[in-house]
Amino acid sequence: MPKSLAFFRGKIVPVEDAQVGVMTHALHYGTAVFEGIRGNWNEDQRKLYVFRMREHYERLLQGCRMMLMDIPYTVEQLCDITVELLQSCGYREDLYIRPLAYKSHELVANLKLHELDSDFTLMAVPFGNYIDADGAIHCTTSSWRRIDDTIIPPRVKISGHYVNSILAKTEAALAGFDEAIMLTPNGDVSEGSGENLFLVTGGQIFTPPVSDNNLTGITRDSAITLAREELGIEVVERSIRRSELYLADEVFLTGTAAHVTPVGSLDRRPIGSGEVGAITQKISDVYVDLIRGGNPKYRDWCTEIPME
Ligand code: PMP
Repeated sequence: MPKSLAFFRGKIVPVEDAQVGVMTHALHYGTAVFEGIRGNWNEDQRKLYVFRMREHYERLLQGCRMMLMDIPYTVEQLCDITVELLQSCGYREDLYIRPLAYKSHELVANLKLHELDSDFTLMAVPFGNYIDADGAIHCTTSSWRRIDDTIIPPRVKISGHYVNSILAKTEAALAGFDEAIMLTPNGDVSEGSGENLFLVTGGQIFTPPVSDNNLTGITRDSAITLAREELGIEVVERSIRRSELYLADEVFLTGTAAHVTPVGSLDRRPIGSGEVGAITQKISDVYVDLIRGGNPKYRDWCTEIPME
C-alpha cells in the first residue's frame, strides 16, 4: 500500500503530522513559493518518472530569491529529497508533486521579509487530468487582468499571486467555461490561469514573451523545443492581441497539470475548425509519450524513481 508522507521540518513524516500553526506568516499573507511537478507512471515499464525536476527546483529557488527566503537546500539536495520521498511513499500511478517554500515565522504583523524565517515542505498526491474535458476546451477572456511585474512578479510561482489566477479560473468555471485567458493591463494576451498560451497561424507558432506577465513555464519551454525538433518550426515570441486568437488556426495551452491542451473556442467563437488542430496534436502526442520516459531522445528530462 502506498503511504501518504510529507517532507516537513527536515524529516519524512506521515502527512497528517505535517502541521503548521495559525500564526504562520505564509497563511496570512501568501508569502510562499511553490512548484507543481508531475510524476508520471509508465505502466509498460512499471516505472515512475519525474519530469524536468531540476528546472522546477531552479524556478523554486528563483522565487525564493525574489521573496528573500533562505531555504537550506541546493537544487541537487531538493531533487534528492524528492526522490527519497517518492520512494518512501511507493506510489505506482501519476502524481502531482508539490514543493512549498514558505515564511514559517509565527508572527502576524510584520511585513519585512528579511526579518522572517523560512522553511521548506514537500508532498505528493495521486493526480490524473487537471482540466476535466475531452478534446478541445472552451475558454473565455477573463475580466481579471493578469498581474503586472510592477505589482507582483508573475514569472515565479509566488503563492499570493495565485489569488489573481483563482479569481479568473473561478469566474470562467461559474460561467460554464473550462479555462480563462488573461490579458495584460495593456490588453495583450498573457496566459491561462495556470497555463502558458500558444497560437498557430499559417503554419507559424507564436507565444507571448515572458515579459507579457506570464510564468516562465517549463512545459512552455518543452513545447518550444518540440516544435523546433519534431516539427521543424521555430516558435516566435511576440506580444499577441486578443483578436488574433479569434482568427487563429489553432490555440493551445501548456502546463505541468494541463499538459498540452487544445483550445476549441474562445468566448464561444470556434478557433479554426473548433477541433484539435494538427500541430497541437503532434506536439501533444510527442509530449505525453516523452513525459513517461517513452522517448530516448528526451530521456534526460525524466528522472526515474528507483522502486523497491
Ligand atoms: N502559468 C501559470 C500561472 C501557472 O500556474 C502554470 C503552472 N505551473 C503555468 C503557466 C505553466 O507552467 P509549467 O509548464 O512550468 O507548469
